Amino acid sequence: MQYRKFGRLDWEVSAASLGILRVETVVREDDGIDWDERAKAAAYAFDSGVNFVNLGYPTYFRDSETAFSFGRKVLGLAGGRAKTAVNVLTRDIQSQADLDRCLDMQLENLSLDKADFCVLDWVYRRTWEKLKRLDVASWAERILKDGRAGHMGIMFHDDAYYLDDINSTYSGWDLVQFEYSFMDHKHHPGAGGKKYTAQFNQGLVASDCMKGGRLLENIPENVRNVWDEAEGDLSVAERCIRWTLSQAEVATVLFDLETVGQAKEYLETARKCIPGSADMFEVLAADFAKDAYYSNRMIQCSACRCCMPCGFDVDAPRIAELYNDALMFRDARIPGFLYNLEGHANVPCKKCALCEKRCPRSFPLVDLMERAGELFAD
Ligand code: SF4
Ligand code: SF4
Repeated sequence: MQYRKFGRLDWEVSAASLGILRVETVVREDDGIDWDERAKAAAYAFDSGVNFVNLGYPTYFRDSETAFSFGRKVLGLAGGRAKTAVNVLTRDIQSQADLDRCLDMQLENLSLDKADFCVLDWVYRRTWEKLKRLDVASWAERILKDGRAGHMGIMFHDDAYYLDDINSTYSGWDLVQFEYSFMDHKHHPGAGGKKYTAQFNQGLVASDCMKGGRLLENIPENVRNVWDEAEGDLSVAERCIRWTLSQAEVATVLFDLETVGQAKEYLETARKCIPGSADMFEVLAADFAKDAYYSNRMIQCSACRCCMPCGFDVDAPRIAELYNDALMFRDARIPGFLYNLEGHANVPCKKCALCEKRCPRSFPLVDLMERAGELFAD
């Protein structure tokens, strides 16, 4: 296994790490999940030197007890060889006591006395304003002091710009996790986020380098053509992993491993991919693939948010992002789950069209939101 320095910590993390019970698994619950095979893949990962595991979102599963039980099993397989990250969901919290409850519930159900990392999940401009009002810095210091976590972190999804305020408000974030695939170079927070983590000397955990497997399945013809014509004898999975891990600022890439076969392929690719490994031709091919995916979106929204605010509290750019995701990856399951989880269905668009007038590119947002509502209807 390859190891990399984890930000300011005196610790090296494996370039490949394990992320279990993630949203891509939640949306497969109806199809049946092969927990035994996943456990074998996790065991293979730890035996291969993986030393970090993010324990995901057991509470999102309808059968959360099975999910927690899998989490406990994975911790047993790790046998103390991996640092743990437990996520605290910030979406519904209203007080520091809510944060405490969420952390305690996760620790108790995972049979942990403490987590190596407590990760505040779902941090973006709205939850961040709430966390600031709750004095999240004092809460974080209290958790570190009472020993429920060894370090604090955030899972972030928004403009990189907000990381400035997040780090100015509290300097103790040792871990920053965000989606970072070749699709995200300029998106929420993209390369800008990477610069901030380097500036603040934080360990960057890159998640979703294969977009929860969606970059490997259902590949549209225009993207398939790009990969077919690309230089080099690399699988799509290798291209995805290498694009992310080739960047020196990335400490580790998180994998939700379904099978031992996947574990072998992904971990071997990660082992070999040192910073700078991806050559110019690989980077260019990934860029062309991204452009091909983007061309399949309904609107080429840049997430500038000039169309906001909406007087009725509708988050049109986020809905556009989710709807575009469903079109690009030809799979509505993950964006549909997030659409309902984030409560967009409860905030109906009144069709006043003010957002369309504000959008510099006059995108048909009213039509898009209607389509999103139909596609993602529970
Ligand atoms: S059409 Fe009006 S109500 Fe609907 S999102 Fe745009 S501004 Fe909000
Ligand atoms: S103003 Fe237009 S481009 Fe900008 S976020 Fe809104 S819809 Fe997207």
